[in-house]
Amino acid sequence: PGRKVLIVYAHQEPKSLNGSLKNIAVEELSKQSCSVTVSDLYSMEFEPRATRNDIVGCLHNSEQFNYGAESWEAYRKGCLTTDIVEEQKKVQEADLVIFQFPLYWFSMPAIMKGWMDRVLTQGFAHNFPDCFDAGLLKNKLALLSFTTGGNEEMYSKGGISGDIHYVLWPMQHGILHFCGFKVLAPQICFSPEYETEEKRKEMLTTWAQRLKTIWEEKPINCTPEWYFSR
Ligand code: FAD
Ligand code: ZN
Repeated sequence: PGRKVLIVYAHQEPKSLNGSLKNIAVEELSKQSCSVTVSDLYSMEFEPRATRNDIVGCLHNSEQFNYGAESWEAYRKGCLTTDIVEEQKKVQEADLVIFQFPLYWFSMPAIMKGWMDRVLTQGFAHNFPDCFDAGLLKNKLALLSFTTGGNEEMYSKGGISGDIHYVLWPMQHGILHFCGFKVLAPQICFSPEYETEEKRKEMLTTWAQRLKTIWEEKPINCTPEWYFSR
C-alpha cells in the first residue's frame, strides 16, 4: 500500500505473453494501491547505445573518449541527457523494479541491456567500493520476470541448456546485486509458445497471485553459492 513500482518492459507486441504479464502486474499492483510506472522501452524507442551523445556539453577528455569516466562525471555535474535522467528518477522513486522481457540469447533483449548500460551510471547506482550489499540502490527490490523458448527440462542441471541459475547469474548478481538491489526470486514462464492456452492462463494467474503477497517476500541470498552450488 502506497508503495512504488517501476516496470521496465521490453516487448514489441502488446498482445504477447510478455505484454499480458506486464498488464496483469499493473492491474494487480494498482489494486493494492501501489503506484505503478511502466517504461515501455520499444514504444519509447529507448536508445540502447552508450555514446558521447549521453553527455550534454563539454567532455572531460574529448581526445580519448571513456564512457564510464565521462558518464560518472556528467552524473555529478547534472550533464546527462534527459532520457537517462528521467529513468534514474523513476528508479530513485521506486521501492521495487520489475524487469519484464523475453529471454534473448541467455540474456535480456539489447534494448533492456542498453537501459542497464545507460541508466545504472556510476555515482547513481554504484561507486566502488559502494557495490553489492553497499551498492547505491541498496534500499530497493528488483525482480526479473521473463519468458523463454526452451522448456524447464532443458534449463535443468542435466539439461542441454544447463541450469537456469547460470543464466540468472550475470543479470541478478552482475547487474542488480552489484547496484545494491535486493533480488527477489525470478518469475519464469518457460516456453509459453509451446504450451496450451490453458497453461498460459495459469502462468498469468500464478504471477498475479504471487504479486498479492510480494511485499512479504524475503530476497534470495544472492551469492555465488546460490547459483553454482545447488
Ligand atoms: P508470444 O509468442 O508473444 O506469446 C506466446 C503465446 O501466448 C502467443 O500465442 C500469445 O498470443 C499468447 N498469449 C498472449 N497473451 C495471452 C493471454 N492473456 N492468455 C493466454 N495466452 C496469451 N529462448 C531461450 O530459451 N533461450 C534463448 O537464448 C533465446 N534467445 C532468443 C533470441 C532471440 C533473438 C529471439 C527472437 C528469441 C529467443 N528465444 C530464446 C525465444 C524467446 O525467449 C521466446 O520466443 C519468448 O520468450 C516467448 O515469449 P513472448 O512473449 O514473445 O511469446
Ligand atoms: Zn548477488
